Amino acid sequence: MNEIFDFVIVGSGAAGSVLSFYLTQAGASVCLIEAGKSFFPGEYPTDELTANSQLMWHGGADLNTQANLILLRGKTVGGGTVINQCLLDRFDTFAWNLFKQSSDVTWFTNEVMHSHYSAIEQQLSIQTITESHWNHNAKLYANGFEKLKLDYAPLQRGQSHCNNMDCIVCLGGCNRNSKQSMPTTFLKLALRQKLKLISQYYVTNIIPGKNMISIYGNHITGPRVINARHCILAAGALGTTEVLLRTGFAKKLPALGKGFYCHPQFMYLAQCKEPVDAHLGNFQGIKSTDTRFRKLGFKLENVFARPIGIALLKSGYGLDHQAFMQKFRHLACIEVAIRDEFPGLITLENNRLAINKTLNDSDKQKANSGKEVVFEIFDQINAVLKEQPTYPIGLHLMGGCAMGHHIQSSVVNEQFGVWGEQRLSIVDGSIFPVAPGINPSLTIMALAHRASQFLLSQHTTIQKTTNDIQVPTATSTEYA
Ligand SMILES: Cc1cc2nc3c(=O)[nH]c(=O)nc-3n(C[C@H](O)[C@H](O)[C@H](O)COP(=O)(O)OP(=O)(O)OC[C@H]3O[C@@H](n4cnc5c(N)ncnc54)[C@H](O)[C@@H]3O)c2cc1C
Repeated sequence: MNEIFDFVIVGSGAAGSVLSFYLTQAGASVCLIEAGKSFFPGEYPTDELTANSQLMWHGGADLNTQANLILLRGKTVGGGTVINQCLLDRFDTFAWNLFKQSSDVTWFTNEVMHSHYSAIEQQLSIQTITESHWNHNAKLYANGFEKLKLDYAPLQRGQSHCNNMDCIVCLGGCNRNSKQSMPTTFLKLALRQKLKLISQYYVTNIIPGKNMISIYGNHITGPRVINARHCILAAGALGTTEVLLRTGFAKKLPALGKGFYCHPQFMYLAQCKEPVDAHLGNFQGIKSTDTRFRKLGFKLENVFARPIGIALLKSGYGLDHQAFMQKFRHLACIEVAIRDEFPGLITLENNRLAINKTLNDSDKQKANSGKEVVFEIFDQINAVLKEQPTYPIGLHLMGGCAMGHHIQSSVVNEQFGVWGEQRLSIVDGSIFPVAPGINPSLTIMALAHRASQFLLSQHTTIQKTTNDIQVPTATSTEYA
């Protein structure tokens, strides 16, 4: 391909798709590269095993080097937004203060981010899961919370027309086109604006030059290079860090790979006398809002998983495990998600990504405090049996290329530019300086909106700004 694009974006997840929308809207020529496959709504695999293997890196089983923490990340056009639960929350002041204190970036505030959040929210259908849509698992959770006099609130989800029966299936891609994933929203609009999308192209390294930057990788058809005036890495915390490590930036950027976080989640199961059918209906409905929990560093949500996921949570095998799975319909589930503070380290070892991530005593204490509350709730709902998960799961992968003020402690400056590189930026969850303890994807999208404004202002060839533009609204029935 001889064309030199204004922008090449690596990674089509929450950040990459939002960026591609705003940059193409301003008239820039943009190429979006994605390692995973592209699926149209209606084509997503409906069985759990195939969905895991087709839509996630390593079949859904990235492990830390200690092999006691599972990390899930999307590998498909739309990235994590295709397989996620699409719970959309703005950060609270507590989270922005944490970001500001650890990075010295002064615009990490709700006041500055308000317009960016609003721009994103206008494009999405966000619904509150009200009581009439709670499934039995959520009702049991609410019952326990009320008995213990704890505060809770309904969750907010990006969805337009779910039928509230098979909601759990959309963790393998929403075939109804209701979940507000990127292929249903921003990406669909960007494609109408002449975005060039190349899927099944795994980027290995980049070579910045004087007048352009070259992006090297392996497409399904063979090795390929794409050139641009500017490259934006949006491959997620692990993907972006990996590309920079493979490019050989570890010496030049001492903070590269440091400060990896993942909000470890512990799914506790309770066996009940009556069927709970937690797999039916809106499988998540409620979150804890008790301010004491926020200070203690954990939150609780009612949640569930499909059969393979649930089977993996139970230790042991044979008849014991079989008896447990036969009670699938009787299982209630509450997750404890912690705001992890002990930073992990991402490196390359023997040419493979190595994720050194453990929990320190303070993180373990948060998990234990959450577990105590969950077990009290299980007592309130007369659970017959309580199960501890075999391992925690990290779904919110953040950090590795933190934003900050000094090259010693950060990888990008506060305008999303990689230190010392004029033609290279990073916009995705990797720039988080710490874990916020809040669902990250809405903020990642809002940061991408902000980044698009910086990027467009730097590129004088592109006339319009994102503010001048009439933004079309996504409709849920169309797909480009
Ligand atoms: C099961 C699950 C449930 C979740 N639920 C929620 C939720 O309810 N709310 C919420 O806010 N968050 C949730 N998340 C997290 C959320 O999806 C992520 O935080 C978000 O998608 C991260 O956005 P990103 O742009 O940083 O990266 P991603 O969305 O992960 O996108 C990165 C993309 O880059 C691609 N890529 C990586 N490396 C390369 C390479 N070398 N070459 C080419 N392409 C590459 C990947 O394949 C991927 O498509 C969930 C995640 C999971 C796994």
